Amino acid sequence: MHRNTDTQSTSAEGQSTRLRLNSLKEFRSAGRGFWRDVPDRDWNDWHWQLKHRITTLEQLQRLMPTLTPEEYAGTQLANQKLALAITPYFFNLIDPADENCPIRRQVIPRIEETHTASWEMSDPCGEDSHSPVPGLVHRYPDRVLFLVTDRCAAYCRYCTRSRLVSNAAGYDFHPEFDKQIAYIEQHPEVRDVLLSGGDPLLFSDTRLEQLLRRLRAIPHVEFLRIGTRIPIFLPQRITPELCTMLKQFHPLFLSIHTNHPRELTTEVRAGLGRLAEAGIPLGNQSVLLKYVNDDVTVMQALVQKLLLCRVKPYYLYQCDLITGSAHLRANVRTGLEIMEHLRGHTTGYGVPTYVIDAPGGGGKVPVSPEYVLSRNRDRVVLRNYEGKVFEYIEGATDAPAYKVSENFDTPKVLAPPPGLGRC
Ligand code: SF4
Repeated sequence: MHRNTDTQSTSAEGQSTRLRLNSLKEFRSAGRGFWRDVPDRDWNDWHWQLKHRITTLEQLQRLMPTLTPEEYAGTQLANQKLALAITPYFFNLIDPADENCPIRRQVIPRIEETHTASWEMSDPCGEDSHSPVPGLVHRYPDRVLFLVTDRCAAYCRYCTRSRLVSNAAGYDFHPEFDKQIAYIEQHPEVRDVLLSGGDPLLFSDTRLEQLLRRLRAIPHVEFLRIGTRIPIFLPQRITPELCTMLKQFHPLFLSIHTNHPRELTTEVRAGLGRLAEAGIPLGNQSVLLKYVNDDVTVMQALVQKLLLCRVKPYYLYQCDLITGSAHLRANVRTGLEIMEHLRGHTTGYGVPTYVIDAPGGGGKVPVSPEYVLSRNRDRVVLRNYEGKVFEYIEGATDAPAYKVSENFDTPKVLAPPPGLGRC
């Protein structure tokens, strides 16, 4: 009797999880919200979106009278550290009735941002100490991070580079641009350049093209990447003209940044589709955030929805120890539980690498649930995603030596039995 009840409740739970997963995976438009009277021509113009960003407490209060005391106080102080900016398009994804709305948590300041724990840092990844030239980070042997601008379309409250972005450094196009290019030219070991910032896609097509052309003219630069959150904050920027320009610079990869499946709207899917059609491989980087995506079903929906948009989930970052981010940081145990749930339970292409950027500048360190239970010279004991245990024998080095006659017949190749074959 008991067993039946348990089975029924388990299957009811499974059913409700499936329903939630399917609902999170639905593609919806962000809609027009308060801007329903704006002509299509303006709404779909990325310059219009930038010009009409929400940047002040007064604007925010008018559009969202449900601001909590924590948000009100945080927004009053926000511009002293990391500016407030939200595009009208992205604002429409916020649920004003939900204090813990995962979109709201990412872009609306809170008073907790002003609290700093002793272990938090303004430069948690130690980028400044690995910068041979301002705005260029050379931490790994064969690649550099090129910080080309300090502007973004909107500002993420957990941004690792809050010391630099939102006009904190007072530049649009990096003033040390020529020195940065000269450094790359003089270092033949640099084969991979990642453009980031700030957001490089905020540049005009012309300026971005000039920049990419300069980099492509350096013979040892094999591979270009752009890190951008524009396809999520401002999908209107992904114009056919931009895609046509970018496709001149292959191999060029794009790393987008999205944290919650609701960010993947019909508008975003269309923009990502244009980039994919231009032959640009797309990857996604997410940051594990409390109240945003520290939930197995949310993450499963996110990675599956990314695949539907032709984007490979690339990294899941443990939130850096950036000052004032404690209220957004989920713990590593949660991250490991999410990874445990993804591996084997969804397409391998949909499983990102979970990493911690080692505080102080140690670089990305992958962290993963333990699948190797023990290992010695002869065998590896493994556990699979269902918890079943298997042994892999490593006896190859102990194989007996065979003496083969020099006068041997050519072996016959036998046809495989019908129906057997490998792809
Ligand atoms: S888009 Fe990237 S660089 Fe800009 S605020 Fe967000 S995390 Fe920081």
